[in-house]
This record gives sequence, structure tokens and C-alpha cells, in this order.
Amino acid sequence: MFSRILIANRGEIALRIIRAAKEMGIETVAVYSEADAGAAYLDVADDKVCIGPGPAASSYLNIAAIIAAAEVANVDAIHPGYGFLAENAHFNEVCRSCKIEFIGPSVEAMQLLGDKVACKQLAVKQKVPTFPGSKGKIDSEEKALKIAEEIGYPVIVKAAAGGGGRGMRVAHNDIALQSGLHSAISEAESAFGDGTVYIEKFLERARHIEVQVIGDKHGNSAHLFERDCTLQRRHQKLIEEAPCPVIDQSERDKLCKAAARLIKAAKYHGAATVEFLLDPKSKQFYLLEVNTRVQVEHPVTEMITGVDIVKTMIEVSAGEPLPFKQDDISIKGHAIECRINAEDPDRNFAPQPGTLDQFAAPGGLGVRMDTHAYAGYRIPPNYDSMIAKLIVYAGDREKARLRMQRALSEFRVSPIATTIPLHRRLLNHSAVVNNDTDIHFVERLLDA
Ligand code: ADP
Repeated sequence: MFSRILIANRGEIALRIIRAAKEMGIETVAVYSEADAGAAYLDVADDKVCIGPGPAASSYLNIAAIIAAAEVANVDAIHPGYGFLAENAHFNEVCRSCKIEFIGPSVEAMQLLGDKVACKQLAVKQKVPTFPGSKGKIDSEEKALKIAEEIGYPVIVKAAAGGGGRGMRVAHNDIALQSGLHSAISEAESAFGDGTVYIEKFLERARHIEVQVIGDKHGNSAHLFERDCTLQRRHQKLIEEAPCPVIDQSERDKLCKAAARLIKAAKYHGAATVEFLLDPKSKQFYLLEVNTRVQVEHPVTEMITGVDIVKTMIEVSAGEPLPFKQDDISIKGHAIECRINAEDPDRNFAPQPGTLDQFAAPGGLGVRMDTHAYAGYRIPPNYDSMIAKLIVYAGDREKARLRMQRALSEFRVSPIATTIPLHRRLLNHSAVVNNDTDIHFVERLLDA
């Protein structure tokens, strides 16, 4: 087992990883930017190293600074968390060449699954359902129009290297497809340095369902069932839950087994999430993409399966076999997570940096708070606006929903505006209560 690891991240996920490592008897080294200096969570680590000024490009994305910190602090491994360098194959490779274990997949598996065209081709081979569309990349208007004629409008043009919703264009007719193709290519070129795009059928009303999977270096892997992350705004998830409330046991079985097959075929070790869109009418699901890292919403899976995902990531990365078999994993109860963002829903979700004078978090039976915030904490303007994840667990979905309402009603944050009122409103909405939602539901509600 490792004796010392560095966490190449910040905020709640840095604290989450420090906690897991501590429980395993592993020393931790936190890195921080000047904008995060003084944050209390840094003192929970055994050691901390400043890696540069506030802007992420100069600190949390600064590979040279992070590797230098790892060398000086003499760590065995680096946990990248999510975001920043977590899906950066070059960083993964630099760690490997410096003989520092990257707590995540191999460089090769990361590259394979990170290329959406290659990932989709592997999925087709493994009989994992994918959207109808182009078999590979699209490089001409003629090819694009031909595919659209075959699969029918609407279609979506997507970047192979895509991320954060960039390089995507939806088209409802030939003219929109012709212009969408060119703008998607140039957006992908400037965002990712790779203008490769492909085309697939666009599903108008979809739910977002994703499967947590994990594998070791000995060829063992398992899935930890699914999460439903349908409540989103501008592709950002707001509320996640597990299990998915709209599929039955046989649909669940098909979905989770498909995800597990894909991961096995990629010879994957570490934690990954296989994301799908579900057509709520036909109950057909289609592969969206694979995220090769721990996800923000991993706690809901931990609550219903009892598996510590971060601890298991560290174990398999150190070469230990997966500590459970597929048959050992079952679903118990229901969990919901609300992402509490320092954003003002009344001002188009403008981020709200500044000092939290009051931060009184809820507690009680079945309530888990994953946060680095506290009364007196100063939210820097440089990063993501998520300041806490409130997770509840109960025997079934309705009990969990009521528990979340209770917990949200206790939560006191001031003077910073947060998404707490929006969560309370959403969880009271009849469409959410009755699962009659899709990934554009929140936007329609806010527009109305
Ligand atoms: P990124 O890596 O940029 O996040 P994804 O492939 O995950 O790209 O797609 C981002 C979002 O775009 C999805 O969450 C979904 O809302 C929408 N989307 C992508 N493909 C489709 C599709 N075929 N039909 C409907 N919506 C889609």
C-alpha cells in the first residue's frame, strides 16, 4: 500500500480524498493555490504545498508545479480528483514517467475511452447500445447530409475530443446541419486542438442515467449500479439520485451489464462512470460517454451500496485486487444529492464569491455533508461555484425526498446566495415527485 499520496485538487473532493487516505493510514499532501491559502481543509492533510497563483492554469492545471511538489514531498501516488487534470492523459503519462502512481486508469485506457469516436466503436463491438449515427469521423458536408438522411432529423454533431458541451450542434434540417458542422469543427479545433466530429441521432426528451464501474489491475471489475442525474441546468447536474427511479430490474440488469462489458473490454482499472441517455418512453438507453475519474455524485452510490469508492480507487491503484465480487454488491435504500452552489438563481446563476458569515449545515439521521466550507470561509472567485454536497439516505425514494427537504430547510448560509431555494422548489415539484422529467426540465421551468 502507498505510504504517502498527493491530492492534485482542491475543495470538497480534496477533503474527501484526505479523509479516505487517513482512514487507510496513508499520509496526505495537499496542494493549493494562493487563492486557497488559509482554507481550513488544508490543515487536515499531513503536509501542504503552494503550487502557484489563483488562476487554475498557473496552479491546479500546472503539471510542472504539481510534479515538483510531488517530488519534494516524496509521495508514492497522486489522486487527481475530478475536473482539472483528472482526465488529462498527458498528465497521467508524466506521472508514469516520473514513477509516481496515477490513481486512475492507465494512459492507454484513458486515451481510448476519452476519444468519443474510438469509445463508441468499442461499444458497438461490445453490443453496448449507442445512438444511430456515423461509424467514424465526418469530414465533409456530403457525408453529413447522407448520414442525416439515413437516421432522420434531428441530429447532433459532436466533437470526438468533446467536453463541457463544447463542439456540439443540434440540427433539425439540412441547412442547419451544414452550418452546424462547420461551427462544431472550428469550436472543437479551438477548444481541444482537434476538429474531429461525428454525428448521431438527437434524442429530444431524455433522462440521464449513468453506471458506476470499478476495475483492478488483475482483470477483475464490477459495477455499482446506476445513478439518475436528469435534473440539470446547461449540462450541469443539480440533483443526483440512486438508484434510478424509472427503470425496472431487468432494464437495470441490461444497463449495468453493458457498462461493465465496456470497461472490461477497455482493460480498465480504477473508477469510471459510463453515461447513458434513456428514452423514457421506449426505455431504450444509448451510450453518451465514459468519464475516467471519480464523479462529483459518487456519494449517492456509496450510500446505497456501502462501498467506499475513493478508498477502493486507492486500493486497486496500489495493485490490490478488487475487495468485492459483483455478487457481493446490492442496492439498499435510496440516496439523493443536492449540489449547493454559491450562485444566485435570481441573477441568472451568477457566481457569488465572498465570505460566508453564516454556514450552518444540516445533520441528523441519514444526512451526509461533503463540504470544505464553514462560517468565515472565503469563496475565491477563481473556481467552480460548488461549495457543498448535501446527501441524504433513506429506505425509499419518497422518504429520501422528505429527508432532503427537511435537511435543506435547516441549511443556513448567508450573506451569499446559493442554489438551496432552487433545490427546495425542485424537490416539491409534482414532475420531480412523479419522475416526469427530462434533462431540459429545469431550463423549461426557469424560463417559464
Ligand atoms: P460533453 O463531454 O461535452 O459533456 P456529452 O457527450 O456528455 O458531451 O454530451 C453533453 C450533453 O449533450 C448531454 O448531457 C446531453 O444533454 C446532450 N447530448 C449529447 N448527445 C445527445 C444526443 N444524442 N441526444 C440528445 N442529447 C444529447
